[in-house]
Amino acid sequence: MAVCIYSHKLDAYYDNELSHEEHRKLEQHIRGCPYCSGDLEQRQRLSGLISSVSIPDIPDDMAKRLHQSLDSLREKALLRMASMLSSVALVLLVVSSILVLRIAVKGQVATASDPEWEKTAVTLQFDPPATETPELQFAQWLIADLSKENGNE
Ligand SMILES: [Zn+2]
Repeated sequence: MAVCIYSHKLDAYYDNELSHEEHRKLEQHIRGCPYCSGDLEQRQRLSGLISSVSIPDIPDDMAKRLHQSLDSLREKALLRMASMLSSVALVLLVVSSILVLRIAVKGQVATASDPEWEKTAVTLQFDPPATETPELQFAQWLIADLSKENGNE
């Protein structure tokens, strides 16, 4: 709750972030303003309390154990990531090996007996089915509708 119009500048004043001129003007104001002088006094008291609190040192053996646990955690995370990447690499290797073998054996990339998704993935060409399925009709309707909305008819 701001009581004084200069209260928003008290942070900058306290942290010595104002220009020399602004600092001087606000200092004059603070002398005559009970709100600002009280706020500043509270800040100084709080700052003094905080600086008087001593932070205990961590015992050497505890610090050493903390570092060891962090190192161990880091190694485990690295191992987990390496394991995941190895799995992905294995899957890619198997899939690409199968594709290469098919090409070598059949002399072609895709055959009619391959699943539709596999033919599309390998040839990057999509052949819509001869008979219109409800999914195809929906897709065509969606494309037509979106084209209208974008003014691309
Ligand atoms: Zn004031």
